[in-house]
Amino acid sequence: MTAVDPNLKATRTTCPYCGVGCGVLATPDGKNSAIIAGDPDHPANFGRLCSKGSALGETLGLKERLLHPMVRCANGKLEQVAWVDALDHVAERFKHIVAKHGPDSVAFYLSGQLLTEDYYVANKFMKGFVGTANVDTNSRLCMSSSVAGHRRAFGADTVPGCYEDLDEADLLVLVGSNAAWCHPILFQRMIQNKQQRGARMVVIDPRRTDTAEGAELFLGLKPGSDTALFCGLLVHLADSDAMDRDYIERHTSGFAEALAQARVIAGSVAATALATGLDEGDVISFFELFRTTSRVVTAYSQGVNQSAQGTDKVNAIINCHLATGRIGKPGASPFSLTGQPNAMGGREVGGLSNQLAAHMSFSPADIDRTRRFWRAPHMAKHEGLKAVQMFEAIGRGKIKALWVMGTNPVVSLPDADAVRAALAKLDLFVVSENVLSNDTVNSGVHVLLPAHAWGEKSGTVTNSERRISRQRGFMPVAGEAKPDWWIVSEVAKRLGFRDAFNFKTAGDVFREHARLSAFENYGSRDFDIGALGHIPDAAFEIMPPVMWPLRAGDARPQARFFSEGGFYSPDRKARFVAPEKPELRQATSRERPLRLNTGRIRDQWHTMTRSGLSPRLGQHLPEPYVEIHPDDAAMFGIAGDGFARVETAQGHCILKAVVTDRQQRGSVFAPIHWSGETSSSARVGALVAPFTDPLSGQPESKATPAAIAPHGFAQRGFVLSRRPLSLPAGAWWARVAVTGGYGYLLAADEPIEDWQSWLRTVSGASDIADYEDRSRHVYRAAAYRGDIPQVCLFVGPASEAIAWDAVKTAFAAPALGDEDRRALLSGRSRDGMSSSGPIVCACFGVGRTTICDAIASGRVHSAAEIGAHLKAGTNCGSCIPELNRLIAQTPVSAETPVPAAQADLVGA
Ligand code: SF4
Repeated sequence: MTAVDPNLKATRTTCPYCGVGCGVLATPDGKNSAIIAGDPDHPANFGRLCSKGSALGETLGLKERLLHPMVRCANGKLEQVAWVDALDHVAERFKHIVAKHGPDSVAFYLSGQLLTEDYYVANKFMKGFVGTANVDTNSRLCMSSSVAGHRRAFGADTVPGCYEDLDEADLLVLVGSNAAWCHPILFQRMIQNKQQRGARMVVIDPRRTDTAEGAELFLGLKPGSDTALFCGLLVHLADSDAMDRDYIERHTSGFAEALAQARVIAGSVAATALATGLDEGDVISFFELFRTTSRVVTAYSQGVNQSAQGTDKVNAIINCHLATGRIGKPGASPFSLTGQPNAMGGREVGGLSNQLAAHMSFSPADIDRTRRFWRAPHMAKHEGLKAVQMFEAIGRGKIKALWVMGTNPVVSLPDADAVRAALAKLDLFVVSENVLSNDTVNSGVHVLLPAHAWGEKSGTVTNSERRISRQRGFMPVAGEAKPDWWIVSEVAKRLGFRDAFNFKTAGDVFREHARLSAFENYGSRDFDIGALGHIPDAAFEIMPPVMWPLRAGDARPQARFFSEGGFYSPDRKARFVAPEKPELRQATSRERPLRLNTGRIRDQWHTMTRSGLSPRLGQHLPEPYVEIHPDDAAMFGIAGDGFARVETAQGHCILKAVVTDRQQRGSVFAPIHWSGETSSSARVGALVAPFTDPLSGQPESKATPAAIAPHGFAQRGFVLSRRPLSLPAGAWWARVAVTGGYGYLLAADEPIEDWQSWLRTVSGASDIADYEDRSRHVYRAAAYRGDIPQVCLFVGPASEAIAWDAVKTAFAAPALGDEDRRALLSGRSRDGMSSSGPIVCACFGVGRTTICDAIASGRVHSAAEIGAHLKAGTNCGSCIPELNRLIAQTPVSAETPVPAAQADLVGA
C-alpha cells in the first residue's frame, strides 16, 4: 500500500464499485494513475478500502479508452467524427424512428455505475419528452426484487436502516450474501461488531462461502427455499408468542393472512427442515436465536434478489421484522445490501422502467405532478419494459432504437447469446462508453459516444444506506469524453427541448432533482432532499456525504424509518405479504440434473472492463471456473485438476473444475465476470435462463438447470504478452491483466505442434529463446526485443500444468540479463526457490505458498499472526476468511505441501 504524500493534494471521491459506497482519497501521480487511500472521514468506510477499491489507481490508464465519438459509416467501419455530427446523427435517427414507429419503439438501457445526474437527465428525457418509460437499467439484475418487496410492504422503496445498525446488532443474519467478497468493508464492520460486542452471526446460503467462515451458524439450505425458512420463522415467532402485538396492531395490516400462508408453506420446525433441506436442530437454533434477540439485522443480497421468487423472499424476511417490530430501530432492521455503487441513486430518479422520478409511481396523480414540474410535453402514461422483456422486444423487432449507457448487457443479461442476436436487428444502436471495445460495443454498435470515466466524472451517488456522496473528478478528461448527462441533454436540445435541458453543470441537475423530490411532497413520499434544492455551486463542490431524507428545514437527515410506523401506503400502515408457495420455475431433468448458480468473485467487478485492468486484482482467481461438490464430481467424472463443460438449454461453457465441499450437492457455481473479450468459452451469462420474477422482473440467475461433463485437453499452458493477442484457432483461453501486459491461460483439445511459427507471427520478433520436447508436446519460449521479453509462451501436456508466477515476475522486470534469460525458460525464479504461489492477499501481494509455508513451519497460528509476519490481511481484511481456511487445512510440518483443495487454479 502506498501512503498519501501529505504535500500532494488529494481529492475526496467515492469508489465506483459496490453499493457500500466507500469514500476514497485520490491523488493523481501525473502518470495516468493516482495514489488511492480510504477516506477516514467517510462514514461508510472510515478509511478502509477493500482489494478492489485499493487497486483503483491501476485502472486509470488510457490504453483501452474510447477517446472520440465514432459513427459506423457506409463502408461498415466505425470512424471518428466530431461531437456535433455524432449528436446530430443520434437526434435525427431518434426523431425519425419515434415519428415512424411511436415512442415505445425506442429504449434506454442504463447502469448502476452512472451518476444520479446522468440517470436523472436520461429519465427526464425519455419519460417526459420522448413519451416512453422504456428506460431500464442493469440494476434490474441487482436489486429490483428488493425494490418490489419494499414497495409492497412499506408503500415505498425505503431502506429502513443504516450501516450503524450493523455495528449495533446483537444478531446478524446474512441471507444469500457473500458479503466477505461482495461487500467487504461492511463485512469487516460486522466482524468488528462480533469481536468487540460479541454479536452472533448466522449465514444462510446454499454455498459455504468465505462469509460463513466467521458465523456461529451456517444454514446451507436448498436453492430457492429462503421463503420457506422465513415462513417457518414467522410461524415459530407466532407460536412462541415472540411477536410485538402492539406494533402489528397499530402499524400493519394483513398479518393473519400472511401467517396462515406461512403455516401452509412451513407450519413447523419439521416442515421447515423438510422444505429447506436443513437439519431440524439447525433450524430450531436459528429460530431461537432470532426469537430471543431484540437487535437483529437481516441483511440480504443477490441470493435473495436474483430469483424468479425474489420479491416473495424479500417480503418473507420483512414479515418477520414487522411481526417483531424490529424495524428502523438501532441494531434492528431488514437490510438490502445493494450491489452497485449507484443502484440507489438510480432508484431515486426512476431509473427502473416501472418507476417515475423521485420515488413516484405511474399513478395518474404522480404522472400529472411530474408533468407539471418538468413542463413535459409527452409524459409516459404507463410503465415501460423491464430489462429482459426489453431485449426480447428488440429481438421481436418491436424496439427499433436502443441507447446503452455504461453497461455490458451482452455479457451480463441472461440468455446473453439471444441478447447479442437481438442487437443486430436494431435500426439505431447507440452506446455511451469509457472503453473502445467490449462485447456490447462489438455487437454491431452504430454510434459510440465517449463518456467520462471514474476519476473524471463529477456528481453524486447513493449507497445502500441512503447516503448521497460526491464523486469528483481528479484526472484530466481523456480525449473528447463528456459527461453522460451532457450527452443526453445535447440530444434533447436537438429535438426541440432546449429550455428543459439547459443544464450547465452537474450541480444544476442535482438541484432540479432535489427540488422535484420536495415538489408537492407533504410527507407522502419518502425520498425528499428538498433542503438541497438550492445548494450553491460552491457548497455542492464540497458537499459532505449526507443521508436522505433531508427535507427543507430539517437540521439533520433521518437515519432510520418506521420504528413508529408512518409507512407510505394510503393508510400509513405496512403490509404483511402472504408469499406464493416457493417453487423453482424450471425443474431439473435427466439431461440437466444440476442447478447452475452464478455470482461474483472477490477481486473482480461485473464484466471486468475496469477491475480487469488491474494486475493486482488478476492474481487471486485468474481462471474462469466451476465449483462442484466432490460426490457430484465423482458421479460425473470431473477431476479436480481438470476442466468441465457446463451446459444449459441456453448454451455451454468450458471452465476449470474446482471440486469442493463448500458447494452443496446438486448445484454448481460459476463466476459471472468473464466475457468474449477475456475468454474463449466462459461467458456465463449465455448459460442463464431468462426467467424473471413476475413482480420485480429480476432474472433467476441462480438456479438454471444444467449438465456437466469432463472436458479433456491435450495441452495446457500460458502466454504473457505486452499487447493483446489472437490465440491459435481452436485454443481455449482466458485473459487477465499482468504487470507489464496481458496474461493468457490456455489449453488445446489437440496438441498444437507449431507454436514456434505462431510465436514468430504474433511477436514479430526475431530474437526467440526456446526449448522444445516434441515427444511430450512441451514448448517454452520467450520472444525478445533487446533485453525485454515481448511474449513468453509455456505449453506442455495437460496433465502437467505449469505455474506461471515466476515467469510473471521475470516478465514484470524492466530488463533481463543473461542469467535471468536462462532462468526464465525453467519456469522458476533465478534463485531456484519456489514462487510465492497464487496471490491470496491482493493488497500486499502475499501468495498462498508463502502463507502455507509459514503455517506449516509453526511460526504462525492465526490470521493476526500471519498479518504480523507477512502483512497479509492487515489492510482491507478481504482475505482473512481464506487465511483462516488455510490455517485449518495446513498441518504444522516443515515439509507439508499445500493442501490439494487449495491448489493453484492454474496448476501446482
Ligand atoms: S467495499 Fe470495496 S468495492 Fe465496495 S465501495 Fe468499498 S472499496 Fe469499493
